[in-house]
Amino acid sequence: MDKIEIIKPDDWHVHFRDDEILKAVVPETSRHFARSMVMPNLVPPILNARQAIEYKKRIEKAIPTTDSFEPLMTIYLTEETNSDELKSAYKNGVVFAVKLYPAGATTNSDSGVKDITKIMHVLETMAEIGMPLLIHGEVTDSNIDIFDREKIFIDKTLDFICREIPNLKITLEHITTKEATLYVNEGNKNLAASITPHHLALNRNAIFVGGIRPHYYCLPILKREEHRKALVKVATEGSKKFFLGTDSAPHTISSKESDCGCAGIFNSTYSMSILAQIFDNQALIKNLEKFVSINGANHYNLEPNKKKIKLFKLKKPINILKDFKNFNFNIKHFDPCFPVFWKVEK
Ligand SMILES: [Zn+2]
Repeated sequence: MDKIEIIKPDDWHVHFRDDEILKAVVPETSRHFARSMVMPNLVPPILNARQAIEYKKRIEKAIPTTDSFEPLMTIYLTEETNSDELKSAYKNGVVFAVKLYPAGATTNSDSGVKDITKIMHVLETMAEIGMPLLIHGEVTDSNIDIFDREKIFIDKTLDFICREIPNLKITLEHITTKEATLYVNEGNKNLAASITPHHLALNRNAIFVGGIRPHYYCLPILKREEHRKALVKVATEGSKKFFLGTDSAPHTISSKESDCGCAGIFNSTYSMSILAQIFDNQALIKNLEKFVSINGANHYNLEPNKKKIKLFKLKKPINILKDFKNFNFNIKHFDPCFPVFWKVEK
């Protein structure tokens, strides 16, 4: 097959940042995606409805008039989050979901949750009203090996939340391990997981090919090949519990290539091409639509989009540009280091 038409995809996890970076990256998402779950870890974070409304306005200003695109806003959960305010923000349609960052887990997560028992009452309210919880699923104890942090979070924290509040709709975001695929597959029906293009494309060797490769550093960090294969299996086989969240996370090249480089990969521009190639490599392109356009909408009780997009397979690989031009800063595009023949029709 060298041509497919699919329902316009959604990106269930994206970082738009703010200011100049926001203006640059929003069109890269709105071109190929109809909706996005917008992460709240700005500096300072989005903690309440008022901040979410303001942030949404800034995003909407950056959407090209030719694109119809809906940002779904999230609130950053802290030990001070007020259940009543959350309830009214959700019921008024201002905020769609809540994001749980264990304190210190990733970029701008210092205000995250240290003690999970302090937020259980908030999670109970969310379960009552049907508001989804999005989780960065890694423990942050510096004594725990960075490659084991997701697995241990599942055993210690996620399993506790799922057992205590089985009615809570949960997305374990950007999963990276075989253990996560198994836990989500076997877990309760309200639990699903998102997967990024980069965790499907690369294993942890990519960070060290011929030297240190800061542009492949992200959190959760890339894992061993056996884990990547497990992710590719659940994504491409069409399992209902797994869907796309790009976790596209722009940082300037100078902040990545530094003594203490930032975690995050910017992949919005070429995500759909790269995913089509990964599914095609498995001879399962027929399941791409489920992963990018259907499973996530179903999990969030939303209708799939009305619009469609077309993808074509070219004779020669597409040319993945190195970085953004025409801006006052440089951001590197994610390059999966294998030939990508698929292109989204303009
Ligand atoms: Zn993220």
